Amino acid sequence: RGLAIGIDIGGTKVAAGVVDAQGNVLQRARRATPGTQPREVEHVIAELVAELSEDHRVSSVGIGAAGWMDLDGATVLFSPHLAWRNEPLRDNLEKLLRRRVYLSNDADAAAWAEWRFGAGRRESRLVCITLGTGIGGAMVVSGHLERGRYGVAGEFGHQVIVPGGHRCECGNRGCWEQYASGNALGREARELARANSPVAQELLRAVGGDPERITGAIVTELARAGDAASRELLEDVGEWLGLGLANLAAALDPGTFVIGGGLCDAGELLLAPARRSFARNLTGRGFRPPARIVRAALGPEAGLIGAADLSRVHLRSRGPAR
Ligand code: BGC
Ligand code: ZN
Repeated sequence: RGLAIGIDIGGTKVAAGVVDAQGNVLQRARRATPGTQPREVEHVIAELVAELSEDHRVSSVGIGAAGWMDLDGATVLFSPHLAWRNEPLRDNLEKLLRRRVYLSNDADAAAWAEWRFGAGRRESRLVCITLGTGIGGAMVVSGHLERGRYGVAGEFGHQVIVPGGHRCECGNRGCWEQYASGNALGREARELARANSPVAQELLRAVGGDPERITGAIVTELARAGDAASRELLEDVGEWLGLGLANLAAALDPGTFVIGGGLCDAGELLLAPARRSFARNLTGRGFRPPARIVRAALGPEAGLIGAADLSRVHLRSRGPAR
């Protein structure tokens, strides 16, 4: 009773799970994010839902996707990392799955899960940042997801932090997600390895000598195993993260920042430098209570848990699938 499927669609992987009303994940499944065609993504979603419904009676499906959802949750307006442009994803999926589907932004879903079940419980003003292919952002104020006038609030990853900096998939230059995401970590590591620096030895060994195969996940793994260069790379990313958080604190004044997404697996290797740079850059520092910066308690699964829970909460009040 009360089970829902949550699916988190990111730039590199699609993670799904059966989630109960307390936010526990009972079963998991995942796939690599397929090509660039909307139909391919829908097909993978259908496969995951079929796989997870074999052993469980599920009442709804929640999708958290790296994209800009309209307020009705019917249309993906745009996604920097996926092929959606004004895509009527909800109706497509309800027809395909013959189930009710609730669409949300992946970071909104993660923030909701952390507020309900995780590190943001009882926080009246929570900002959640997810670090993966890009940077996702969301805010829960007094138990309410703050979605903006048109549904697309919280796109913090696309605040320009370095004018004229790295090109972003959104089309602009110098977006925060080009400096503090899992992708940014991978790009910096590849550059270091290409330079053939002796400090990059371990990184190169991990990928059989081919710098192009280095990813953020590989750097994180090596850093945790003690590799000095990988730790330095994470520290750099942590500093960019802290700077961006200080900017957000100036605008939003949250009590807690919860940091989720795949890169949160780096834990303190990322968060310690982020806290230092946050403290150094926070406006009014010394004269204001600083926000806490904590790792997502639900880790990289926050997105799928929140997507499932949002579908349960919202679909109670809507009619049957069209
Ligand atoms: C997208 C967001 C998404 C985030 C994390 C950003 O590039 O614009 O919608 O939440 O990546 O996946
Ligand atoms: Zn951008």
